[in-house]
Amino acid sequence: MTSFTEWGAAVLLHICCAPDATVPWPALLGEGFEVDGFFYGGNIHPEGEWEMRRDSVVLLAEKLGRRVEISPYDPGQWFDWTSGLSGAHEGGERCRACFGAQLGASSVFARENGYGLLSTTLTISPHKDPALVNEIGEEVSSRTGVRWLPRVWRKNDGFRLSVERSREMGLYRQKYCGCVYSVRELVSPMERSV
Ligand code: SF4
Repeated sequence: MTSFTEWGAAVLLHICCAPDATVPWPALLGEGFEVDGFFYGGNIHPEGEWEMRRDSVVLLAEKLGRRVEISPYDPGQWFDWTSGLSGAHEGGERCRACFGAQLGASSVFARENGYGLLSTTLTISPHKDPALVNEIGEEVSSRTGVRWLPRVWRKNDGFRLSVERSREMGLYRQKYCGCVYSVRELVSPMERSV
C-alpha cells in the first residue's frame, strides 16, 4: 500500500456520489493523507438528478471539513466519449469508457492543481469491477504524471457501511447508477451504488 510519506500527502479523491465517499474519504484521512474531493458528474442524467447528487457531495465535504471541486456539468462531452455504446449493458464497454471519462477528467484536474496522488470511490460499488477501475485509474494517471492510489473499498463490508453512514448523515442516495441508459436497469435503492 502506498503511504503518504512516499509520494506526498495531497490526494485528490474522485467522487462518484456522496454515499460512496462516506467510507473512502474518512479512511484516507485516517491514513494521514490530505484529501480533497473531485465530483465529475457528466455521466449523471438528467440535470436535476446531478444537482441533487452535487448538493449531497457538497454537504459531505462540509461535514468532513474538506474542499471539493465540482466540475462544470457537461453531459455532451460524456456522450461524445461513450458514443456508439448506448446498447451496452451495465458493467460492459460503456462503463469502461465512462470510468475513463470520469477518472481522466480527475487526473487532469489533479495534475493542474498540484495533487500528487489520485484515487476513486468507484470501487465501493458491488456493481463495478474494482480490478478494472484500478487498471483504468493507473492508465489515466500515467498519462498525466499523477500517482494512482489503488484501493478496493467494498472490502470489509465497505458498501454496507456506506449505506449506514449515508443514512445517518442524511445524504441523498440515488436509485440508479447515473446515465440515461442506467435508468432502464433500475434496482432497489438499497442495492444501488454508483
Ligand atoms: S451505468 Fe454508470 S458506470 Fe456505466 S456508463 Fe452509466 S453512469 Fe457510467
